[in-house]
Formats: sequence, C-alpha cells, structure tokens
Amino acid sequence: MAAFYSDELVSEIVSANDIVDIVSAYVRLKRSGSSFMGCCPFHREKTPSFHVSADKQLYHCFGCGAGGSVIQFIMNAEGLDFPDALRFLADRAGIRLPEDGGGALNEQRHNRKQRIYAMNRDAARFFRECLLSPEGETAQKYLTKRGLSGKTIAAFGIGLSPSGWDGLLKHLQKKGYDRALMVEAGLCIQSEKGHTYDRFRGRVMFPIIDVRGNIIGFGGRILDGDGAKYMNSPESIVYDKGKNLFALNIAKKSGRGYYILVEGYMDVISLHQAGINAAVAGCGTALTREQARLIAKSPVYLCYDSDEAGMKACERAAEIFKEFETKLRVVTISDGKDADEFIKKHGGEAFEELLKKAKTVTEHRLDMLLRDVDLNDATEKIEMMGKAAKLFSGISNAVEREIYIARLAAKSGISAQSINSEVRKVNAKNIRKEVSGELRKTVGTTQGGQKSKRRTMAEAGLLSMMAESEKVYLKFADEFTSDSFSEDIHKQIFDHICTYYKDGKDGRCADFLMKAMTGNEKELSTVLMVVQNVDNEMQAAHDFAEAVKNEIFNEKLQKAQSEGDIALISELLKSKKQKA
Ligand SMILES: [Zn+2]
Repeated sequence: MAAFYSDELVSEIVSANDIVDIVSAYVRLKRSGSSFMGCCPFHREKTPSFHVSADKQLYHCFGCGAGGSVIQFIMNAEGLDFPDALRFLADRAGIRLPEDGGGALNEQRHNRKQRIYAMNRDAARFFRECLLSPEGETAQKYLTKRGLSGKTIAAFGIGLSPSGWDGLLKHLQKKGYDRALMVEAGLCIQSEKGHTYDRFRGRVMFPIIDVRGNIIGFGGRILDGDGAKYMNSPESIVYDKGKNLFALNIAKKSGRGYYILVEGYMDVISLHQAGINAAVAGCGTALTREQARLIAKSPVYLCYDSDEAGMKACERAAEIFKEFETKLRVVTISDGKDADEFIKKHGGEAFEELLKKAKTVTEHRLDMLLRDVDLNDATEKIEMMGKAAKLFSGISNAVEREIYIARLAAKSGISAQSINSEVRKVNAKNIRKEVSGELRKTVGTTQGGQKSKRRTMAEAGLLSMMAESEKVYLKFADEFTSDSFSEDIHKQIFDHICTYYKDGKDGRCADFLMKAMTGNEKELSTVLMVVQNVDNEMQAAHDFAEAVKNEIFNEKLQKAQSEGDIALISELLKSKKQKA
C-alpha cells in the first residue's frame, strides 16, 4: 500500500508527526527515560504495558502485541486505512499531498471516492425534491405524523425515493454519472441479465453522513407495500457500515461532552429535534468495536429499546465499551418502547431527566435481575441470587460491591451476609479455575517451550540494540548470520539491519526497517521495542549476544544427545571449554 506514495513523502509525513505528541492525544503517557508508558488504547488493562519510544518513533504494547509507527497508530486509533491515515497525518502537519498523490492507483481510488460523494449528494438532492413534489405527499404526511418538523427534515436531508424503477437512474444519467458508478455506490442494482434499476423505491431516505460531511450511503424506510422495513446502502469504497455512526457528524459538535447511543434513525432524529443533539445510532448493524471506538473516549449513555432484543443489544454494547473503559450509563425508558416514542409523549425535558437518572451498568443489570423475579417463589429467588453473586463477583472495587450488595439486600429481603457468602463462593470457584489454568500453561511450556522463548527474547534484544546503535552492530554483527536466528522474522530483520548499515544509513534505522518490512509493523515493533533505556549498551548487547550463542549451543547439544551422536557431543563440549 505504501507504494501509492513516494517513500520520501511518507518519510516527510512521519517525521513531521512526533509519535509521543500523537499518542498523547489518545493515551495518558508517563515518561520513563527516553520512552513513555501508558495504558494501551487497543486492549483493556489496568497496569500500563503500552510503550512509546521517542528515539525510535515507535509504539508497542506488551499486552496485546499492537505496535508500529505513527501511521499504524493512527490507522488503529482512527480506524483508517493506510492512505487515509497518511492524509490524516499530512493534514495535521500542514503538508499538502501532491495532486497526483505520488501514484496513479491511489489517485484513481481517490477520484472515484470523490465522484461517489458528488453523486450521493446529487442523489440526496433528488430525493429531497421528490419528497417536496406532489409524489411526496404520502411521505410528507408520514413524517408529519411521526412528529418531524420541516426544519428537522431539512437538517437531516430526509427525502423520498420515487416508486418507479429508474427515477434516480435517469436523473443521475442526465447529470453525467455512469451506471457502473451507480451500481458501485449501491444506488442502483444490476440484474443478472445486465438490467440496471434503482435500489431504493418508495422509501423515505435518510442520508448517512461521515464526520467530514460526505454522504457515504443511505438508509431507506419503506412507506407501504412489501419489503424490508429498513434497507441500507451496501458497503462500498466510501461506506463501511461497521465504522460509521449515524449523526456522529452532528453529535461531535454538540458540546455536551458525551454521546447517547440509540437504536434507530428515528430515535436520533427525534432527540435532535428535541434539542438533544448528542445522539448517534449504528447504521443497521449491531454495535461493532470500531463504532464504539469512535465515541468511547467520552461518556456514553446507552439508550436501547426496552424490549428483549433491545436489552440484549444493550448488554452487548456494555461488554464492548468495557474494553475501552468508557464511562457508561444505561438509560431506562420507563414509558414507551424507544426514545422516539418517549420524546413524542413527554418531550425533551423529560428525556433530560431520564439522563440524570441513568444507571451504572451494574445497577442496570441488577434491576433486570430483579424485574422478572417473583420474590415469593423460593426457586426463583435462589436462581436470582446465583446470578447476582456472579454479577457482584465481577466488581473489583470493594466499596462499590458493598453498595450493590446492600441495595440487593434491601430490595430482595435476603440478608447482606448471605449475599456476601454467595459472592465468596463464586470468587473461590473463579480463583480455582484461574490457578488450574496457570498450572496448565506452565506444564505446557516445560516441554521445550520455555527454552525457545528465552532464545526468542535474546535474539530480539540483540537485534533491537543493533538497530539502535551502530557501535553494537559493528562489534557483534560479524559473529552472527541470519541462520543464527530461530525465527523467520528475526532472520529478515537481521538482514535488513545489515543492509541499512552497509548502504550508508539513510535516515533512522527503525524507519528504514518499517519501510523495508511493510506489513510486518507489529512483529517489527515487538522486536525493536524490547530493549529501552539501557545504561550500558555494550554490556547489554554483549549479554544478549552471549545468551543467543548459549541457546544455540544448548539446542545443538540437546539434539546431539537425543540422537546419541557421541562424537558431536564431545566436540561441542570441547569447543565450549576452549572458549571459556
Ligand atoms: Zn495492548
């Protein structure tokens, strides 16, 4: 992918964006020597294992293995592909990407995207005109009945797709777009016989707009007749369902400092109309990690429908956000099925009250447990108690746990003491499970596993130091060949390090390796970041080199022993004695 842009341009963009600066916008970093540490933004953790090196301009998480340069970081943190991440960083540094993008392929892709954005905009205008025309009367009535003002309809660009087969197609053709592009963008469908027709027919149309203001797709709600209630644009070069949230472009600017995640387009629109413009929704999919990541840094109110499916979706969302340690609250809609219905009945102020009364996830789960239980029925009560104990055992904060236990005690009439004893039982069971798991792990590695891990670490340490210091390279490189390394990736890194020094060191070695080993950024950062802030580099490098040689020797010896090759064994032992 990097080939779309010239190496020089990529280097310029990378060096204009200091990795510590960039990461600091996402992670609270603490300095330790020339490197920095923090809690990984890509997996859930309490103790920091996420390292950023100012010297190497790399990051690596020793917890989940994420790693790379500032480009990979932005790709992961913002959910962008390589060209978009590069554009993001170029924008930030005020570097103008050349018109030709440095490569024809990228330029083509970029142009096609721009063409689809323009076409989608024209389609949205067409849908809007259609809604305002006599043909749109039924749709307008429907929207009015659902309580939407003309202002709201205009603000969201809501329109109508005509009920014929080619209204949009003809319109776009007149505007100069070709059929292939319409099919690619999902506005039209091509039948097996090659016949092209409008995808959305007789539907109220909701444009889906990304945070940069581009229309990337549409959601269409059927007015009457057969067909699915909602239909969405298929994924395309501009539209990745799992990475977009409906109305995020507006909610991002709400200034409220939090988001409200609701289920449907109509919920979002009703809330916005009521002045609560922090609402967003998934676009016809169950919440994905990428979608959650878009809003996870701010507090999030989960506001799902109060039916069974809604409750399940809410649980799922809570699990996903847990990974990002998002401050979560669950809004319970006491009256009416969803936010839309509630707002219509009670208005925006009443909804603001609901937000104030929103519960923590644990409170909410506890309420759900108690909701369907007949406390006079002993069996049901015992079953509920078991579930509650599991819920409580997951709370690591003792004070928090006490509070919830007291609450359950008050509501259920079970004594806090009995609840506590149930929780302890669950905890003991969990600990037993963990211990046996650990044991299995240890047993698994004694069969040769631990040794090779030691070798891997020593190799990585040596390579990391060679990449960092030419002195280390000059002193130790001759003692090794790529065959000295046990892992393929280490062999490659060694070869590239040699090339780097032999070819006259153009730029930083870490950058050179990143470029030379595109696609292996994660593995590379694992190696390069293994050693940091060493006091005596030559001593450290010497120790790693000796460790590698030792492991090679031990493995040879072991092999000779298992094969009963006495001659080789004595030769090996003799050579060892000579060196010592
Ligand atoms: Zn991590």
